[in-house]
Amino acid sequence: MPSPDLAANSNLSSTLRENRVFAPPEEFAAKAHIRDLAEYDALYQRSIEDPEGFWAEAAGELDWFTPWTKVLDWNEPWAKWFVGGRLNLCYNCVDRHALGGKKDKTAILWEGEPGEVRRLTFGELHEQVQRFANVLLGLGIRKGDRVAIYMGMTPELAVAVLACARIGAVHSVIFGGFAANAIVDRVNDAECIAVITQDVSYRRGGEVRLKATVDEALKHCPTVKHVVVYKRSDAAVEMKSGRDQWWHELMAAAGAECPAEPLDSEDPLYILYTSGTTGKPKGLVHTTGGYAVQTYLTSKYIFDLRDQDVYWCTADIGWVTGHSYVIYGILQNGITTLMYEGAPNYPDPGRFWKIIEEHKVSVFYTAPTAIRAFIKWGDEYPAAHNLDSLRLLGTVGEPINPEAWMWYREVIGKGRCPIVDTWWQTETGAIMLAPIPGAVAAKPGSATKPFFGIVPEIVNKDGGPVPAGQGGLLVIRKPWPSMARTIYGDADRYVKQYWTEVPGSYFTGDGARMDEDGCYWLMGRVDDVINVSGHRLGTMEVESALVAHPKVAEAAVVGRPDAMKGQAIAAFVTIESGHEPSKDLKDELRAWVAKEIGALARPDDIRFTDSLPKTRSGKIMRRLLRELATHGEIKGDTTTLEDFSVIARLREQDE
Ligand code: ATP
Ligand code: MG
Repeated sequence: MPSPDLAANSNLSSTLRENRVFAPPEEFAAKAHIRDLAEYDALYQRSIEDPEGFWAEAAGELDWFTPWTKVLDWNEPWAKWFVGGRLNLCYNCVDRHALGGKKDKTAILWEGEPGEVRRLTFGELHEQVQRFANVLLGLGIRKGDRVAIYMGMTPELAVAVLACARIGAVHSVIFGGFAANAIVDRVNDAECIAVITQDVSYRRGGEVRLKATVDEALKHCPTVKHVVVYKRSDAAVEMKSGRDQWWHELMAAAGAECPAEPLDSEDPLYILYTSGTTGKPKGLVHTTGGYAVQTYLTSKYIFDLRDQDVYWCTADIGWVTGHSYVIYGILQNGITTLMYEGAPNYPDPGRFWKIIEEHKVSVFYTAPTAIRAFIKWGDEYPAAHNLDSLRLLGTVGEPINPEAWMWYREVIGKGRCPIVDTWWQTETGAIMLAPIPGAVAAKPGSATKPFFGIVPEIVNKDGGPVPAGQGGLLVIRKPWPSMARTIYGDADRYVKQYWTEVPGSYFTGDGARMDEDGCYWLMGRVDDVINVSGHRLGTMEVESALVAHPKVAEAAVVGRPDAMKGQAIAAFVTIESGHEPSKDLKDELRAWVAKEIGALARPDDIRFTDSLPKTRSGKIMRRLLRELATHGEIKGDTTTLEDFSVIARLREQDE
């Protein structure tokens, strides 16, 4: 937590000098939905002058059972969108295409880690979701009931999610890599009555024993009455009689028809817990209508989707990115979505590029953490594959360091594919800032401009404006359709966390600055700001300077108390393979940062580490490093930490 004097002045000092600009490639722009900046500007202007008109028009592209009577009912911070409207998101993802001429088009293209490939057409998906919806109904699950889904990346996971949406059951997807205690917390918080799981899934050549982990968790989850187990393999699992049933047996016995329930626009669709980068995860509630509209429209324009696309987002469905941009946004557009079960480096670090080549992936959306890993593993892996099918690249999850962006552009995109750096959060439900690829020029390290209808602003603690070029708090001024409606069971926390910090605005918790072109540059989390002699530095810029050094693969910086300066900068650095840690390298890196962005940002301590503590979704957990740098021990919430041994190894190094 920042100390009170840190919060007193909320402006951030910016040090990053990044001037590269990449205009949309002409050929791309010529075929795009939105073809130039003037068109973007005009539509953006219209969208903020008449947001209700704008969003109503977008909503009109979807199928509604009953039209809404009012677009927005806003009583800060409580929003209702498309009031009185009735629709079904599963219907819009599946039925609409299965019945509308795309019955034989591939909806889900799946590759298992061992190498199997399955294709589910919209017609087949339609049948599967209806059957599984009947399975849920047969178990007594009704609209509003909460269903936990703890599975690997299999088509059945998407079927389970969509079947819940079909009957109005509220899904709570729990990432399949979490341990039993994380399941216990989430299932109990949402009082789930059923868990959908599978025997095992495959990762890095090993079995992930999902069902066994569920069994362990459910000893502490009194609300759960039913467990449905999808059989992925021949692994033996224990089935508890009266509670556990096989997916395939229930499906075989279920009726093939189950009409989609006409749900109220504000009926809850799902609960999802945040990544836990800055603290204990929060269970955000998303509702149906507004979420449908914004995930649909952002997918269409930001990925500039075309009917023949093979779209691949590498995020797990356990994260919001998987919800909005593996399933809901993409399927609503009737586009083929690829799902891959396993690790990027199995059996070797070329796996992703092999998948792209084999399935002719045209749009590829991944995270900075993955991109930094690819860089570390070496260019020979992408070079060994034909990546000509790619036409658009995307990134999400953390600020992307400009040098990693450049690598992505040159080595993966061959300089021809636009990159969309998309900023958003579990809370926002859909993308909020990103370049519209045919219209807005990209800048390495900037998420550039707001999506239509979104009104971001950089402010200080009192909500006052911060001039262009200076850093401050990123807030959103107006409600947007896919905004989370509350924190499940804790409306007070919702108000306190997001709507109290800066009066009249949604507080994102991120620091950012806007440049003279109106582009936004995310500077890191406000909680992670480092105050050096009264200058408040975001983590992104110092880390980007370190990552720009040819020997550095990844870096995290945190503040630790310092008697002279208030805080000193402690940097944790992972170096590229082929280089050795040394005192000389430390000196070299300190001098490098001072030269690149100024003496103020020169790290006081540098520690080399082979890996950084990250959340399961791949985000650097600086709060743990800060604790370590300050107290030498860690007390904060670590349920979402990816690899506990990282902490032990960091501590050893400390001694
Ligand atoms: P918690 O809220 O529990 O700390 P979290 O914020 O990591 O977890 P998510 O909702 O998964 O949970 O992540 C959203 C955050 O990720 C954003 O607030 C921002 O800090 C970061 N982020 C996502 N995309 C980008 C991006 N393109 N550029 C910069 N930062 C990004
Ligand atoms: Mg967050």
